Amino acid sequence: MDTQVNTQGVVMVGEDICKQVISRADAFAAVEQVFGAMARGDAYNFPVVREAIGHADALYGFKGGFDRAGLTLGLKAGGYWPGNADKGLTNHQSTVCLFDPDTGQLVALVGGNYLTALRTAASSAISVAHLARPDAKVLGMIGAGHQSAFQLRAAAEQRDFDKVVAWNPHPDMLPALGKVAEELGLDFEAVSQQDLAAQSDVIITITSAHQPLLMADWVKPGTHIACMGTDTKGKQEVDPALFGVAQVFTDEIAQSVSIGEAQHAVAESVIGERDITPIGAVINGTHAGRGSAEAITLFDGTGVGLQDLAVASVAARLAREKGLATPLSL
Ligand code: NAD
Repeated sequence: MDTQVNTQGVVMVGEDICKQVISRADAFAAVEQVFGAMARGDAYNFPVVREAIGHADALYGFKGGFDRAGLTLGLKAGGYWPGNADKGLTNHQSTVCLFDPDTGQLVALVGGNYLTALRTAASSAISVAHLARPDAKVLGMIGAGHQSAFQLRAAAEQRDFDKVVAWNPHPDMLPALGKVAEELGLDFEAVSQQDLAAQSDVIITITSAHQPLLMADWVKPGTHIACMGTDTKGKQEVDPALFGVAQVFTDEIAQSVSIGEAQHAVAESVIGERDITPIGAVINGTHAGRGSAEAITLFDGTGVGLQDLAVASVAARLAREKGLATPLSL
């Protein structure tokens, strides 16, 4: 019988506290560590559960895993409620539960909304850091929704960019992204999709598209592309032919071929699983990464549960250290 909770005590760390305590650099380091652990076989993600619950048009599910190296065990529960915006709430809602891997006891409940954007931006930033050409100057953004500003801020820290070019299917959303670029001291230009590809050294796609927005013929040699929007079966942002001409990397191969951008290229036999490299191998130095200055590199960022656990664990630790975590008694 449990007579006491774990020695650290259980805490709750809300959305506002997450925003205060964890930096982009913290998120980058935490996600980079866990990608490395995944590639070494020290950390693994559990199968994802995602269900249409037949209420409020919602999709709900769990992403979990265990990082034996970082000793992080837990899950992110949440999903998508399309009617939330009308109630003044974010459509995506999630909460991370962290458990003590030695005892199974609950350690922390951490708000997952802000952290999801932070860890997703960290993921593409890690791909830029490890795969983009060192002399990259122009950053292309396809997408201008909630995630895009996080993506832009994190990517901008990885190279000495001097310009952002952007395209979005809803052009009225672009000025808000332009403001972020301006804040970062970067020139900003709204362009056509073809012009974006012609100018960009790094391209980030972060939309909820279900058909290609970027064609293989448009992309110039040496470009790095981070495909970040496709995280579900049926979504698609780029031409599957790009996978045939690019060096392909991902966070997790199993997700990449099933719910990631690679699902289409694999279904069309453009590539197979063995043509995809976990970015953790590049982080660990067991894969060289970019093969030449002229190579096109493509990162399929599908979003794994271990990313959520990694940043939530850091947020919980920092909140405890700063006295900002709310103790809970169970
Ligand atoms: P959002 O709703 O704030 O923005 C949606 C973006 O997609 C906008 O740029 C919008 O103009 C565009 N869009 C909407 N409908 C479209 C359509 N039919 N065709 C093409 N583009 C369309 O969403 P967000 O929070 O910015 O998320 C963007 C995408 O990233 C979503 O697909 C989301 O599921 C995905 N996402 C991925 C991860 C990951 O880890 N890979 C994490 C979070 C979100």
